[in-house]
Amino acid sequence: MGTSLSTGESFARPAEAQQWRLSPGRHRPMGSHVIVAGAGIVGLATASELIRRGHAVTVLEKESGIAQHQTGHNSGVIHSGLYYKPGSLKAKLGTAGATSMRRFAEENGVFVDICGKLVVATELAQVPALQELHRRGQANGVPCRMISAEQAKEYEPYVSAVAALRVDSTGIVDFRGFATRCDARSSRRAVISASDNESWGSHRVPMR
Ligand SMILES: Cc1cc2nc3c(=O)[nH]c(=O)nc-3n(C[C@H](O)[C@H](O)[C@H](O)COP(=O)(O)OP(=O)(O)OC[C@H]3O[C@@H](n4cnc5c(N)ncnc54)[C@H](O)[C@@H]3O)c2cc1C
Repeated sequence: MGTSLSTGESFARPAEAQQWRLSPGRHRPMGSHVIVAGAGIVGLATASELIRRGHAVTVLEKESGIAQHQTGHNSGVIHSGLYYKPGSLKAKLGTAGATSMRRFAEENGVFVDICGKLVVATELAQVPALQELHRRGQANGVPCRMISAEQAKEYEPYVSAVAALRVDSTGIVDFRGFATRCDARSSRRAVISASDNESWGSHRVPMR
């Protein structure tokens, strides 16, 4: 049995982890037991995808629960991919990641609100930089358009701007809920926390 945590998730014990074996299937030639360090959104999303591909995974986490650091304390904004140099890996991954994050949240009952966002110029001298951002956004395939100060106020009455860039495709998501959902999908993972044992070295995990 796992240990019940304040966030409601269950941490499996190392002994439980040792029961896991790679299931036969088309991924078997690649199959391996993978150790992921850190139960933030990156570790849990990685674990979830590795499991989907047929690997056995153990997530090691030093805290007593998931999403205790950046993932559980961020602003919840889905980055649209606006800022990155067109053609760069960051631009490609940023836009793809925004789309897949939204899709995952919608398909898995995680709170997501595609409310769009405004990037504003608060003085005229900032308008060329905003126009460059607009150009980058379009080159990156991000739906965005320049709007006037009056139009910006229709979205946000309290905004102070001389011009704005409106991005319709992005919004906010519950990162902690997202991580919890990834965690729940990772049915063959164990999260071994520091509270289980102070020394990682003493844990034995199943290897092929
Ligand atoms: C204030 C703030 C606001 C942000 N706002 C946004 C935003 O609006 N939108 C956005 O997309 N991004 C935002 N970010 C960035 C985003 O939160 C991070 O990129 C993301 O959460 C990183 O996830 P992670 O899993 O890599 O790290 P974390 O969530 O920090 O998880 C790392 C985990 O690894 C564990 N760990 C560390 N060392 C070990 C070890 N040796 N052994 C075992 N476990 C270990 C930690 O305990 C932790 O649980 C923000 C970040 C901050 C700080």
